[in-house]
Amino acid sequence: MTIILNNNNYKYETEAVVKLFIPAVRFNFLIDERDADDDVIMTRMKQCGAYVYFYAYIRENGRVMRSSCKTEAEGFDLKNGEFLMCRLLFLLLCRFFDTKPRWGLLTGIRPVRKINLLLQKGLTESEIRKEFTEKYYVSDDKTDIAYRTAMVQQPLLPSFDKKTVSIYISVPFCPTRCSYCSFVSHSMDSAFKLIPAYVKALCRELEILGEIVNSKGLKIDTVYYGGGTPTSISAEDLFRLMKKTSECFDLSSIREYNVEAGRADTITEEKLAVIKEMGATRISVNPQTLNNDVLREIGRRGTAEEVLRAYELARKLGFDNINMDLIAGLPTESFESFKNTLDRIISLEPDGITVHSLTLKRSAGLYRNGRENITNPACEMVNYSIEQLTGHGYNPYYMYRQKNTVDNLENIGYARPGRESLYNIYIMDETQTILGAGCAASTKLVDENNSITRVMNYKFPYEYINRFDELMTKKDEIRNFF
Ligand code: SF4
Repeated sequence: MTIILNNNNYKYETEAVVKLFIPAVRFNFLIDERDADDDVIMTRMKQCGAYVYFYAYIRENGRVMRSSCKTEAEGFDLKNGEFLMCRLLFLLLCRFFDTKPRWGLLTGIRPVRKINLLLQKGLTESEIRKEFTEKYYVSDDKTDIAYRTAMVQQPLLPSFDKKTVSIYISVPFCPTRCSYCSFVSHSMDSAFKLIPAYVKALCRELEILGEIVNSKGLKIDTVYYGGGTPTSISAEDLFRLMKKTSECFDLSSIREYNVEAGRADTITEEKLAVIKEMGATRISVNPQTLNNDVLREIGRRGTAEEVLRAYELARKLGFDNINMDLIAGLPTESFESFKNTLDRIISLEPDGITVHSLTLKRSAGLYRNGRENITNPACEMVNYSIEQLTGHGYNPYYMYRQKNTVDNLENIGYARPGRESLYNIYIMDETQTILGAGCAASTKLVDENNSITRVMNYKFPYEYINRFDELMTKKDEIRNFF
């Protein structure tokens, strides 16, 4: 499929709208229709006298549809033009494909942040709902879940304080790579040898960050160990990292300390004991599904029985805030199987349950294997999870969307009241500075105008280790920010 941008520069926005209808496809971009293939989508913008005219056109398999609108040239600006063009194209594609994406024209990844901003501007609930449904064509049910999530977040959002930061620490290793995964996570087999050098470099980075934090008088609010799967490394290495964390930062007044234990096949009593002893207050034990056939299909070693054992073990050791992640739309998983998983997980009474929707990034094995167009009942699964979780005392408290997600669905974290992860809210709301350590970690420096400066670490462990000194020169940017 070719996208022609005639007399306009709305490439990113046009592609985002088209992907709502034609996901997981690479598009050619042209500026002139004469060079195009048979299947095209075209947008054109042209000022003529007192008006600016917008035109959208689609031709696929010989079927053609077009639409146009105009606005007064006086007072016109490109931002306004971008919205008009996207709306025109969106409505045309709705007609052409006879469908209406439930998130409507909202292509951004943070619908709840949008609501928080509208609340800040003083809009009422009905004005916000109207803006979502009438301006952006978001369905009533998606507007509702986003609004409910914003309401849970409101009292938990950080007030802006440049001196309060959270820390993210990356452990980018996993025992095997799940077929849908696009994160930087090397399988143990290929990366095992890198772990000692990685842990050493990460400890050094924690020291450097600790020095910045302490010299600038910063206060640590939350800590998050993610990956990868932090419990992929040995109990000794985990201890080394967490001990270093508590030596480098004053954790005496933190409000939350997360460790993503993640995959049950990496969880041992010894590791859980280390995590507990070193002060973690919240962990995740992530089944994704309790169907062993599906677990095998997605390349996850380990079984549902191991997940249940790990969960029981964590409870026995006294963890009182455990989250469990599920994925709706996994290949070969039926609605009944998902329902069975969710019902069993709810009966365990974890403190939080996060329901992700399957996303296929280009780097994922599943995508490369050409299975991206599998149809599945993800939407039904997500609807069931909303109904069941909210009916069992779990409140939606954070939400985000990703590109190339099955049916354009969302990811929602639910928790029992008081068990919400503050870090998850802050990372999505982007109002608190987060200092990242480890490979692929990004530091987000938020200033008083809410503008964000990102400082990225290298993506792969070998780069992180080998170019460590070079990387550390970037820390001046962080130092100078405070
Ligand atoms: S456990 Fe998570 S990070 Fe690791 S391979 Fe699977 S999806 Fe990727």
